[in-house]
Amino acid sequence: MSSFESFNLTKQLNRIIDDLGYQKPTPIQEEAFPVIMSGKDVVGISQTGTGKTFAFMLPLLQNLKFSKQITPRILILVPTRELVLQMVEMIESYTAYMNVRVLGVYGGTNINMQKAYIGEGIDVLVATPGRIYDLTLDGALQLKTIKKLVIDEVDVMLDLGFIYQLTNIFELLAEKRQNIMFSATMTDDVEELIEDFFVVPHKISIAVSGTRLENIEQSCYSVENFYTKVNLLIHLLQKKNEFSKVLVFLSNKKYADLLFEELEKHFVSELCIIHSNKSQNYRIRSITEFDEGKNRILVATDVMSRGLDFDKVTHVINFDTPHFPENYMHRIGRTGRQEAIGHSILFYTEAEKEAKEAIETLMNYSVPIIDFPIDVEISGKSIPDELPRFIDPSYKNRKKNEEERGPSFHEKKLKNTKVNQGGSYLRKMKTYKNARRKGDKIANRRNKKK
Ligand code: AMP
Repeated sequence: MSSFESFNLTKQLNRIIDDLGYQKPTPIQEEAFPVIMSGKDVVGISQTGTGKTFAFMLPLLQNLKFSKQITPRILILVPTRELVLQMVEMIESYTAYMNVRVLGVYGGTNINMQKAYIGEGIDVLVATPGRIYDLTLDGALQLKTIKKLVIDEVDVMLDLGFIYQLTNIFELLAEKRQNIMFSATMTDDVEELIEDFFVVPHKISIAVSGTRLENIEQSCYSVENFYTKVNLLIHLLQKKNEFSKVLVFLSNKKYADLLFEELEKHFVSELCIIHSNKSQNYRIRSITEFDEGKNRILVATDVMSRGLDFDKVTHVINFDTPHFPENYMHRIGRTGRQEAIGHSILFYTEAEKEAKEAIETLMNYSVPIIDFPIDVEISGKSIPDELPRFIDPSYKNRKKNEEERGPSFHEKKLKNTKVNQGGSYLRKMKTYKNARRKGDKIANRRNKKK
């Protein structure tokens, strides 16, 4: 069994650990400590409650020497004002015996006060992305001295649309720095961010632990397409006594809304939804109504439903198959709690088969397949993602090159291909630079969004 002694910590940190009453490192702390100490880029997949804050702060504080430097050396980015306050409080408690200056900045408050505090000198700056960018543009803050960048809750950050603020901040930082990123879920956006800005990061994942598979009865259906999944779900949800508290997961908020609209036609008084485009009040209402049993069905996206702990969920429906196996574990862990047996049902299309197999490999378990019910209609209707992609035949050379480069290149290009690739698309493509510097990538991203 590991103990904090093996970390060889400073006297001050050992004293804090005693004061806090921590007996031994949590799994994420144990894994993260040597890697963060080594200076490598790190991506940690870990939920709140696992001790992740201490996992990144402990090695950072161990390495932080006393300094009178005015400009900060550690920058911690979090998505919300509440998290800034919470993070500052935690860091202050960890540095009670150290001479470390910590400051939290966030939007919606007087910027001049924050400028004055910054001028007094800081070691660790905790911030939301928007405010820190404003402070830097104002000349109140210099980010080139940041040696360690931590981005916490990065999945929430990207889901809330902070990608532009983040990429702007990256531009202002020194190239030579250590990047540390924590996310509870892996999403396509998170993966893209890692690919664009991280240097071969070391990945630590402890998301799987804590899901008690023995309490969860898993099954799956092979389903033709989105609208057939809708028909199957409606069929299942009609068994009201059996499916009495149902969480339906999708990875994409656009399709979560589409599913909600379809389900509304049948279950309007028993249905609620939660994702990041809904207002805070709406989200709270959805959660309360589902938890109290007023609504039987909650449609949720992976990112937004995190950290929610519901009692006695009878079924988790994986309406789509998560790309990242860890997300499946998060999802199904919402049922089968407190000794009760829970049920998880996975819907997968042919295109999602590979993702299903990755999940099964991770669990070392093959999810039993249930025959598709004969009384459920197979729909011929498609969602945009299921339509065949249009390749402009006049653009022969590019097509040839892609074929020459083999299947993986082709797949990636297809993923990024817009459905309408007419003249305006080609014109837009010409405005893209070859990404040589990070700034070019950002400019290209902006062009892509236009
Ligand atoms: P976090 O995942 O960072 O939100 O931390 C969750 C909680 O775990 C916090 O209240 C910490 O104080 C606590 N915690 C962190 N590390 C340990 C540890 N090694 N032993 C016991 N509790 C811990």
